[in-house]
Amino acid sequence: MARACLQSLHSKNTGTRQAAMEVQFTEQIQQLQLGAGDTFHGEGILAITKALLQSGVAYIGGYQGAPVSHLLDVMVQARPYLDTLGVHVEACSNEASAAAMLGASLHYPLRGAVTWKSIVGTNVAADALSNLASPGVVGGALIVVGEDYGEGASVIQERTHAYAMKSTLALFDPRPELGNMVRLVEHAFALSEASNMPAVMELRIRACHVRGTFEARDNVAPKLSTRALIDEPAGFDYMRLAHPPVTFRHEKLKIEQRIPAAQAYIAEHRLNEHLDGPRTEVGLVVQGGLFNALQRALQTLGLADAFGDSAVPILVLNVTYPVVPAEVGAFCAGKRAVLVLEEGSPEYIEKDIAQALRRGDVQTTLHGKDLLPAAGEYTVEAIVPGLLAFVERYLPDVDLAPARAWLAANATRRADVAQALGALPARPPGFCVGCPERPVFSALKLAQQNVGPVHIAADIGCHALATFEPFSSGHSILGYGMSLASRAGVSPMMQRRSIAIMGDGGFWHNGLLTGVQAALFNGDDAVLVIMKNGYTSATGTQDILNTPDDDDKAAAAKNDTLHQSLAHKNQSIEDTLKGMGLQWLRVVDNYDVDAMRRTLQEALTSPYNGLKVVVAEGECQLERQRRIKPWIAGLLARGERVQRVKYGVDEDVCTGDHACIRLSGCPTLTLKDNPDPLKMDPVATVIDGCVGCGLCGANAHAATLCPSFYRAELVRNPRWHERLLARVRDTLTGALRTA
Ligand code: SF4
Ligand code: SF4
Repeated sequence: MARACLQSLHSKNTGTRQAAMEVQFTEQIQQLQLGAGDTFHGEGILAITKALLQSGVAYIGGYQGAPVSHLLDVMVQARPYLDTLGVHVEACSNEASAAAMLGASLHYPLRGAVTWKSIVGTNVAADALSNLASPGVVGGALIVVGEDYGEGASVIQERTHAYAMKSTLALFDPRPELGNMVRLVEHAFALSEASNMPAVMELRIRACHVRGTFEARDNVAPKLSTRALIDEPAGFDYMRLAHPPVTFRHEKLKIEQRIPAAQAYIAEHRLNEHLDGPRTEVGLVVQGGLFNALQRALQTLGLADAFGDSAVPILVLNVTYPVVPAEVGAFCAGKRAVLVLEEGSPEYIEKDIAQALRRGDVQTTLHGKDLLPAAGEYTVEAIVPGLLAFVERYLPDVDLAPARAWLAANATRRADVAQALGALPARPPGFCVGCPERPVFSALKLAQQNVGPVHIAADIGCHALATFEPFSSGHSILGYGMSLASRAGVSPMMQRRSIAIMGDGGFWHNGLLTGVQAALFNGDDAVLVIMKNGYTSATGTQDILNTPDDDDKAAAAKNDTLHQSLAHKNQSIEDTLKGMGLQWLRVVDNYDVDAMRRTLQEALTSPYNGLKVVVAEGECQLERQRRIKPWIAGLLARGERVQRVKYGVDEDVCTGDHACIRLSGCPTLTLKDNPDPLKMDPVATVIDGCVGCGLCGANAHAATLCPSFYRAELVRNPRWHERLLARVRDTLTGALRTA
């Protein structure tokens, strides 16, 4: 979900902001500096990052998002090293600005790489991509996308492949083995230059996190760079613009020159892999990224080993667009049948192959989605039934009993587990312990009890976790930073005002222009809540324009400054809104639930008819804990006094109605058996992990809950007078108990 052109930001210490300041990538940056003779060990995404430098990349940009956030995070922190190579790094404000950055490769022989999460990021970048691909590039342009498809995905299930086809982009889908991935990064730049097509490399989550080794090469300092500047701008060339009339010529160039040039490059450099096998009567064509799952599936049928050898010939498509008809035809010719393994829908590759075979008059029977699932991730278990059907039909001598037994055993195991465990409650993800966004939804719940239910336009970001219990809040999510825009058609039809919720990450990514500007321009009667937590937290707490600067963070660590006062340091959101002419603005401390409830009620009922913005202020607790934990550990190691706040529940007072839990959802506020043998209902309890955010107390006050919560101050390494005071108290309370 989340993502910044931060280059213009400056901190007092470093000159340029770094992404994810509390997470250090020291080891990864050392890996980037390996040279010839060294062996790289690590994850796929870091191997890709290293391969960019080995390929002479001159500029790098992007917008973070799983599973490729690591690429940009590491590059941003590696700026001092990249400066020595003359490589420029830019953390872009969104994917559109990242795609537009590739415009440097339109005129100049500069290799550029950008990254983002697909499909959502590619949607945002689509306009710039079309305008880039139409004139075509002269310097290699590579887009590394996290193909967030399948189990564990956090976005809509669509494929990047459609964009490659419509905009004529070469699409790489490398077999997940580090040496192969690195080889293909280097070829992607070269193919892009040979064909003038920008190239996309899609990496599924498993490819990003696969671990392995490859023999490193020296990094290549680009010929033109921040250290070897371009003397003069390129001459004016209308063909480099995506404007008519030259766009008509561009379209022809794509068909007549660029695609053929890309196909020739793919074939000449054998980018796709032909793996031989003795059962030549059949064959398998697989997207490179699915190869490991296919290999494991073949193993269950006894048709492959664990080292990549297969009895059935395999064509591994490391480049899935464009398909090379002659290559496919040569692979399929003479075989009885071929099975295409293509994840997701529609079956673009299968159709390309069918067309190639038909036009080449190759009579091989083609199978694909008729035997394999039409949608969903191609896990090993999803592939095996399709393979079974294929092999049963064309290789009848193969004993399929072991594979069938494997599938049956899986089904039995699942059934046994389900029976043993019984019905389990759903365990949806939730906010971190102490998250500053949780109290806002507590307040929103309370506000609606007073003003009535309202339509809530939700957004992408941590606050989307409020769509789960206990808040179940949010009617729609239309994209990152799109909440305010998405209520534009709703709020005029509603008797009660609607609320749009947006994070500060979404605000800078898109929401400022798409939502705020439009609402102000149209004079909309709208309410917007901006979660000002200081980072794009959902993508890894990268810095944004309103991130507290390094000096403020350091001072806060020393003083264990409260969340709200640190977030309050940076006023860029408030100043921007005021500069745009916003008339109704309230800034509220998130953890003051009652104040937040009153402010939301005011926004929903105020006679003021224009845009009303509530800035909900509270620093991301995850980032705050990362900062203060080492500081606290240091204090304790030096034997210094440390005071922390914890909340608890008096089990004798708790009535067992659990209203506090329904207003919170904090994982450390949970249940335990009632110690009173005369009461059946479990009581609320606060377990280890409470960070003392104060929400428990604030909710008890705002919702007038039972008075069972208490606030405790835990002092470690107390001073002598505190020890003495504690002893006196213990003695007194002990005496009172026995009296
Ligand atoms: S990462 Fe930060 S903003 Fe996101 S849920 Fe955790 S504490 Fe809240
Ligand atoms: S005070 Fe309550 S809401 Fe806050 S961290 Fe502790 S248990 Fe969770």
